[in-house]
Amino acid sequence: MDYDVIVVGAGNAAFAAAVSARENGAKRVLVLEKASKPQRGGNTFFSGAILRFHFDKVADLDRFVPTAEEEYPGFHAGVPVYPREAFRDDLMRVTDGRTDPELCNILIENSYDTTCWMQDLGKMKFELARSVMGIKVGNQIKWPRGAIVRTVHEGVGLSDTWFETGEAMGIDIRYESHVLELTQSETGRVSGVVVRGPDGLETISGRAVILACGGFETNPAWRTHYLGQEWGHAKVRGSNFNYGDGLKMALDIGAMPWGHWGGCHATPIVAEAPDYGRREMTDKTNRLSYPFGVMINVEGKRWIDEGVDVNSFTYAKYGGLILKQPRGLVYQIFDSKVVELFEPRYWTSEPLKSDTLEGLVKQMKVDQKRAMETLEEYNAAAGRGGPFNPAVLDGMHTEGIYPPKTNWAQKLDTPPYLSWAVTGGITFTFGGVKVTSEAQVVSTGWRPIPGLYAAGEMVGGLFHYNYALGSGLMSGAVFGRIAGRSAARA
Ligand SMILES: Cc1cc2nc3c(=O)[nH]c(=O)nc-3n(C[C@H](O)[C@H](O)[C@H](O)COP(=O)(O)OP(=O)(O)OC[C@H]3O[C@@H](n4cnc5c(N)ncnc54)[C@H](O)[C@@H]3O)c2cc1C
Repeated sequence: MDYDVIVVGAGNAAFAAAVSARENGAKRVLVLEKASKPQRGGNTFFSGAILRFHFDKVADLDRFVPTAEEEYPGFHAGVPVYPREAFRDDLMRVTDGRTDPELCNILIENSYDTTCWMQDLGKMKFELARSVMGIKVGNQIKWPRGAIVRTVHEGVGLSDTWFETGEAMGIDIRYESHVLELTQSETGRVSGVVVRGPDGLETISGRAVILACGGFETNPAWRTHYLGQEWGHAKVRGSNFNYGDGLKMALDIGAMPWGHWGGCHATPIVAEAPDYGRREMTDKTNRLSYPFGVMINVEGKRWIDEGVDVNSFTYAKYGGLILKQPRGLVYQIFDSKVVELFEPRYWTSEPLKSDTLEGLVKQMKVDQKRAMETLEEYNAAAGRGGPFNPAVLDGMHTEGIYPPKTNWAQKLDTPPYLSWAVTGGITFTFGGVKVTSEAQVVSTGWRPIPGLYAAGEMVGGLFHYNYALGSGLMSGAVFGRIAGRSAARA
């Protein structure tokens, strides 16, 4: 059977594309998932499902979280609004001004509307991401900018709901369907895909193909090649199916590489995390409360300003910087003053613990003499400015040490002391293919490739060096929706 639209992949971007294609008139839509049914859903399944979108008034959030004011009195007065300009400033700042201006504009302009669409057509249910995005100060929760709403049951809920919505809309879904190649007609139009499925090889034709099958984060050969040696052994936070297959297929027929191929999203995760994401753990290996402590490497040295910004704007690059440290390992160290500020997922693994800093350091596989000197130097330099306020960039800083700590630099002086060993876990890669404003893939001849579209992690250009939390799924939904509409109309 010929399809109107074939979608490769079964994550957030793929389903946004497939659902949008149906909405826009495509009758026969097929989703091809490489994974088996129990392993379906890509990184989307593992995600925290937090979405970053613009809103000019807090009341714009009511449709997603109607009971927020009841649950958190003062919510409407306390949440900072997030106009388009603030979203743009954040993306520009974290990407060193390199985010593709056209794509960034499309992402931002469509972010709120697409989240509403996910609710209305996608049937998503939302909640506040209180466990990771709100900080309790006194009786009030202080919410950060822009990314505070997630789907209920996080990525598991997001993924399951997309499959349910897709099935209800009559989209065909095939599992264990590993797409190997794109086919083209004599005119150069993409005309379908070659798939290795449970019954062998098959060529499936379609009027349009949308590639939404992730980056190359799972592929150690490509990681080493494009990202560097230290990435060869990186632990993968999510899916073990994203090998860059879609990128290869697109490049093989002349697609243009675009964006930061040497860059990726990687976060501090607990050192004993498994090599690939575990479905029962999803994103619980993250260790992101480091702004409230210090991080030392195995040489016993501090190596980064832990408090240069709130973690949602540093976490995605600190994983890579940790991997560059000796043995790709660092220790996060805290005192008990900040324990109540920890993200709850810290407690999914046991910390080292002691009533003295010496006792704590003795348990670490580090240069212990140097580590004690570092902690003593830090304590002598810390506590300037302030007062300490976890909800804002509080200016409590160190003086006279390098690297400095710019905010939240309290002394480590209240036992018991705690430490978690962490490494860098890769989430997804930034390099992708160039797409038009209609999500059509562009060739190295600077012309759109007829019949070929891309969405999600496969779209290059948005993220460079770093990332603003909640933008990955938003990009997948925005460009997936556009790709589905364009493919259906084509
Ligand atoms: C632990 C974790 C937490 C995260 N938390 C957040 C968050 O809170 N907010 C946020 O915005 N982002 C978050 N992210 C990032 C986000 O999950 C990704 O950016 C997003 O899921 C990417 O969606 P996608 O559809 O492009 O790719 P994926 O969801 O990875 O889907 C790719 C799909 O393609 C399939 N596939 C691959 N190759 C083939 C092939 N050859 N043939 C057929 N199918 C193929 C895969 O099996 C999979 O179904 C998180 C990621 C992880 C891992």
